Order: sequence, then structure tokens, then C-alpha cells
Amino acid sequence: MTARYYGNHFGFQTRAVHTGNDVDLGTGAIKRPITMANSYELPYDPSVLNWSGADKNLYTRNGGSNQQYLQEKIASLEGGEDCIVLASGVGALSGLFFSLLESGDHVIFSDITYIAVYRLLNELLNHKFNIETSIVDTSNVNAVKDAIRSNTKLIHIETPGNPTLKVSDIKAIAEIAHQNNALLSVDNTFASPYNQRPIELGADFSIESLTKFINGHGDAMGGSITGKKEYLEVIRAQAQVNLGATISPFNAWLIMRGAVSFPLRMRQHNENALAAAEFLERHPGIRFVAYPGLPSHPNHEVAKRQMNGGYGGVLSFGLHADHDTHNRFVSYLRVITSAVSLGHDESLIVFLGENDERQYLYPEEFHQGFFRFSVGIEDIEDILEDLRQALEKAGL
Ligand SMILES: *Cc1c(COP(=O)(O)O)cnc(C)c1O
Repeated sequence: MTARYYGNHFGFQTRAVHTGNDVDLGTGAIKRPITMANSYELPYDPSVLNWSGADKNLYTRNGGSNQQYLQEKIASLEGGEDCIVLASGVGALSGLFFSLLESGDHVIFSDITYIAVYRLLNELLNHKFNIETSIVDTSNVNAVKDAIRSNTKLIHIETPGNPTLKVSDIKAIAEIAHQNNALLSVDNTFASPYNQRPIELGADFSIESLTKFINGHGDAMGGSITGKKEYLEVIRAQAQVNLGATISPFNAWLIMRGAVSFPLRMRQHNENALAAAEFLERHPGIRFVAYPGLPSHPNHEVAKRQMNGGYGGVLSFGLHADHDTHNRFVSYLRVITSAVSLGHDESLIVFLGENDERQYLYPEEFHQGFFRFSVGIEDIEDILEDLRQALEKAGL
């Protein structure tokens, strides 16, 4: 069953609401149901089937209906030809790397990435499988150019990067990749497709942790890879059927539901995060604020060019204070919760201390410890007042 097609002549919000949903033919319900079943009925002669195929509903690890509905929606929002939705953002990243790379290939990746990317590329794939890797400051286009080798297969960037909010120029790096027969993947989780669409800027793959802004409610995990069919068919068969990172129907259904309000939430995240960043930057107790929407951000001009909806809901900052005062400040917060993850409806903050093993890759101001702050969609007055009173109690 294929849903009514909502092509790109419809607006982003219309597609967020409608794409992937349709009237359920069995019941007439105006929402497609959740299908909790591991197996699907086989044809008369099942011996002709490809048991490793991901193109037919056979067994839920090979794919199922709720996953397919969500894939339609995400592909449409990212402006991509095809999409695969998997169990988590890391499932999507490892699925891409394991499916695409072979021993002897070279990968360039951003010095600021989600920690699992650093582990996968810098520890697992290079040491165990002889994949060459280069950690590069991808905010510097010339550094990317200089790192290219004859066997460079993939450039993987994260922009804005977790946790320092470093920004890399997607369009310029896509050109470098393609001039050298390499592919570009972009982890788009911090921006989300509301603010930034890497495929439209020339990237081959856009990766999302659906766990974050797209689901937005802090209750389900998922990840997606969007890109060309020719690559995604391979990734689908490997990452899902053989590596087993299949999303559960229930999680796919929850994310489908969350994604309906994603553009509305994103507008509020953008607005609240900019207001919080401006408030913090003006406060004398704050040592630094990193947010791509601030003119003080070193890559603000690139961000302005490629982030069309806004600058996202995440910022980082540090206090003019010692280690313990950072923890005390968090203990005084009443609206903002101390927890990892980001892109949830509620504001979340995490103190990342001085001992991060990747500190050698962070700018100087991050070395004394800092907060990653995911600004939620609460009333901005309540968020700012929460910050103000906690700073005051902490003596700042
Ligand atoms: C959270 C996150 C991931 C990992 O996603 P999970 O759904 O937690 O596996 C990947 N990249 C970025 C930028 C993230 O913030």
C-alpha cells in the first residue's frame, strides 16, 4: 500500500503532517495502525524468496510497515531519493560505515563528532579492519582538501558538531569530495532537516538521530540515513538484515507521531535557544557561549548560509567558576533537567568536565569544563528566569 504522494510542491509542514500516513484500508481509520508482528504470511512457493532481501515484508528484521511509513516521511523532509530508518542514530552511523567501507579505504572525519563516530572510525574500523582514518578540522575547507588521498572513499562531517557547535561548510566539502571520487555523509542531528538539508547542499547522505528533534518527546530511539537508492539498497540489506539494527514497529510509530509537530517545535527551539544564548552571553558570570546563531561564533557566516530555518536548539557554555560551582549551578535549576540527550520537548543540561579524552580536539575555552544545553520549548521567560536564579545562587 503506497500512501497518497505529497511531492515537494507541498510545504515542509504539510509533508511533516501527511507524508507516510494514509487511510487504513482494513478499518477505514485515518491513521495507519501499528503492526506488532514478527512475521508476515508467505506466498504459495516461498522457496523462490530472497531471505536476505529487505524489499518484501517477510520478517520484521528485514523491515516492516511502520518503518516504511516513517522512511517515506523522513525522505520527504530531507529532500532525498530514499531513506532507511534504523534502531538508533548510532545504528545508522555504524550501518553506513560497515556497509560502505572496505579494508584499504581512507576516511576523513570531523574532529568534533558524536563520541561513537570517534570510537567507530578511530578505534574499531582502523585497528580491526585496516581502514585508514584522518581526523580533520573540517571547519577549515583547505584542511579537508589537504587530507584527501587517492583511496579516500568517504568524508564524514558533523555540523553543527556535538558538543562544541563547530560548523563546517557542507557545499564546499561536497565539491571537494566529488572532485576526488569520494562520498560525503553529514550528521545533521543538531540542525535537523527543518534548519538544514545536506542533500540539497550536495551531500550524498544525511544522517539523523531521530531520538532527538524529529521524535522530540524523549521517549523513543531511532536513526535514519537518507540518500541515493543505489547506496541505500546495499546499506539496507547489510545494516538491517545482517547487522540487525532494525527499529521496533512501536518506536517507528512513536517517531512518526512525534514528527508531525516537528516543524512547530523546531521554530520554538530555534527562538528559545537564540534568546538563551544572547542572555548568557550578556551575563558577567559566563565565561563563553558557543551557538552558531551568535555573531561571535567563529563560523557564523557559514552557518547563516547553510542553516535556513534557524540555528538549532543546542548551545554550549562555561561559567567563570570552578568545577564544583558548575555542579552546584545545575543543582539549583528547577525547569531545566540534568540529563544527557537533546532535542527533547523539555530543556536538558549536562556538565562535561575537564577530563574528556577528546579535549585535545576541543577549542581552548572548553578545557575547563562546560555545559551542553539543549533548550526546550517551555516558555522562554521561565527558562531565562531558571538560569538567572541558579547563577545568582551559585554566586555569579
Ligand atoms: C545523539 C546523537 C547521535 C546518536 O544517536 P542515538 O539515537 O543516541 O544512537 C549521533 N549523532 C549526534 C550528533 C547525536 O547528537
